Amino acid sequence: MAIELPTAKAMRAAHKVLAEFAYEPAPVVKGYSNQTLYINLATRTIQAKPVTDQMKDIFIGGRGFGLWYLWQAVTPATHWDSPENEIIISSGPLGGTTNFPGSGKSLCVTLSPTSNAPVDSNVGGYFGSLLKFAGWDAIELQGKAENDVIVFIDGNRGRITIEEAPDAATDSYPVGEQALAMFAESEAEKRDISTVSAGTGADHALFGCLNFNWFDLRRQRVRLKQAGRGGVGTVFRNKRIKALVVKKSGVNSESNHPDDGQEVRQAGLKIHREMHDLDHLQSRMRTVGTAHLVEIMDTTDLLPTHNYKYGSHPEAKQLYSDCYLKAFTQNTVDGCWYGCTMACSKGMDGFVLRTGPYQGQTVTVDGPEYETIAGCGSNLGVFDLHWVGEYNYYCDTYGLDTISFGTSMAFVMECYEAGILNQDITGGLELNFGNAEAAAELLHRTARGEGFGRVFGQGIHRMKRIFAEAYGGDAQWLQDIGMEAKGMEYSEYITKESLAMQGGYGLTLKGPQHDEAWLIFMDMVHNLIPTFENKAEALHYFPMWRTWFGLNGLCKVIWNDVEPESNKFEKEPAKVPEHVDNYVRYFTGVTGRPVTKEDLVFMSEKVYNFQRVFNIRMGMGRRSNDAVPYRSVGPVTAEEYESRADRYDKQLREKAGFDPAGKTTAEKMAALRQFREAEYQRLADAVYKRRGWSADGVPTLEKLHELGIDYPDVVDVVRPYLQASQRV
Ligand code: SF4
Repeated sequence: MAIELPTAKAMRAAHKVLAEFAYEPAPVVKGYSNQTLYINLATRTIQAKPVTDQMKDIFIGGRGFGLWYLWQAVTPATHWDSPENEIIISSGPLGGTTNFPGSGKSLCVTLSPTSNAPVDSNVGGYFGSLLKFAGWDAIELQGKAENDVIVFIDGNRGRITIEEAPDAATDSYPVGEQALAMFAESEAEKRDISTVSAGTGADHALFGCLNFNWFDLRRQRVRLKQAGRGGVGTVFRNKRIKALVVKKSGVNSESNHPDDGQEVRQAGLKIHREMHDLDHLQSRMRTVGTAHLVEIMDTTDLLPTHNYKYGSHPEAKQLYSDCYLKAFTQNTVDGCWYGCTMACSKGMDGFVLRTGPYQGQTVTVDGPEYETIAGCGSNLGVFDLHWVGEYNYYCDTYGLDTISFGTSMAFVMECYEAGILNQDITGGLELNFGNAEAAAELLHRTARGEGFGRVFGQGIHRMKRIFAEAYGGDAQWLQDIGMEAKGMEYSEYITKESLAMQGGYGLTLKGPQHDEAWLIFMDMVHNLIPTFENKAEALHYFPMWRTWFGLNGLCKVIWNDVEPESNKFEKEPAKVPEHVDNYVRYFTGVTGRPVTKEDLVFMSEKVYNFQRVFNIRMGMGRRSNDAVPYRSVGPVTAEEYESRADRYDKQLREKAGFDPAGKTTAEKMAALRQFREAEYQRLADAVYKRRGWSADGVPTLEKLHELGIDYPDVVDVVRPYLQASQRV
């Protein structure tokens, strides 16, 4: 049955202003507004804080600002749902630029519900940029409201309100439309408004996401982008926030007041030209978005299928990008911020929902992107474009992360097929691989916090323990097949055959998310990092380099999804050196800070190491925390071994010093496991050394000093661990 929503007039009448704050919107200068906004929802405090030179020098912006504020807000005893936990949203000095593609990102930082350690999530949509132009480099949200609230930042009038919002929707699509109806004073103003929201799913699951929206003029509806990873949406709803709404009119290419606008324009123009001339020959992001990866992963045996058991499937063709080329509306403006000519935010219009509270309604599905197609499609054995779209839509509006949903569902399906789960436990759902309707029903029950949906919403890390303790599952087997690390569900690449990508997922700060190090192409498709030293160097450079986008409010996709034609002749083509040089121009052009390309990496290294120390402070930043489930390293079951027996036998013979002739599959699997797990540990040794960390994965005092982050409270965190490892 369709959900009835109250009118904007009725909602406005029901709103009660709980707190109000008037301010003079600060002009943005060289990318900074130089103040941040602090809101405590419990005490209803609203305050401005100055941005210090130290913050700009060391932490730059975006993720850096978020981590700096969170460090000061919490203690090692803080739990993710403690009132003092914060959500910080910040763009960065380059964020909001409209003449360099991919410059509208926001970074969200909080203590994650799944790990209780800091997590960062990078998201498009207009909010972070409009927030900055409304006068704020970041917003810090602390405390918990008594009842559901909306925070409205009116950058036109210089007024901030915390409003009780009893009638407003919770799910992201309706709340986004309601915000426009309530806060836009004209049709034209709709484009000047952006809303952050979660949904009813985030009320009940630990992997809640945040949706950042913008008004799509051509479609006349709100579009969503997700800060998907780490449960930021769950923290948001725990604080009883229904929406953050910002309004700021008059944004244009000069709003950042860059130091050298001409330099910025020229740097941006280079990228615009490449998009126009080369995208259709390379990634086709402008027509199919990241869906082009499906066939590449399937044909290279890297597409997760049936809970990462296999890397390809004959039916996967039904999810290839040519299907999405037809399903996505073409020739429309699909950028998630002004000026993004890559325009990869594709949408399926005219989509009729088959299930759930909005059944029968015709909607636009935002996406799906590759991760959702692989996670909610092939990994579940669901090779049906419609069902992937259905999960995509509902995860978004419920405020649930599609990656965690898909990976958790794949885990549950394997447990169901193994007999650990049955219909008595699942509430009558037959959760075999390929049962698309049952998966949809479990999604709705998760959003309602009902029955087995409540268990499912805990995510894999906790389900492993529940399935062992309550349902008699084998704890070791569950550990081996449960694709999570640091409490976060894996994103969607098979890593068994790529040691570098095992490290790319395991030797990370927040967990197995491809935004830190996506080495699968370099390692498996192009064979560019064959030695241990090459892999260790890649696992140093790329996480640092990718961190830089998150400090500045930038989209990583622009850097390497379309490359200059000459890139293949470069000595290190994976770094796309010409684009790195262009980012040097861009950064200096906006901020006026003269830098080299080495400086960009050095900036990131400071924040990356600070975050590692922060993890240690919260109990999650040492070698033991970098462990990964065995399925990401090698075959857990005999059928997996047999599916690639030639490859595994060869590796045993040539690299492990083990002759497989005449051995049983079980014997060969045991030998392979021993070899591969040792290789992973050797890789960790090499990477820690390259990063300047101890053998336990702790940044050394020399490293912290070199980076200029050897503050007394930072040193206090690492010193006991460094002393302990010296004693050993
Ligand atoms: S490349 Fe895609 S995700 Fe990145 S800013 Fe452009 S539209 Fe958004």
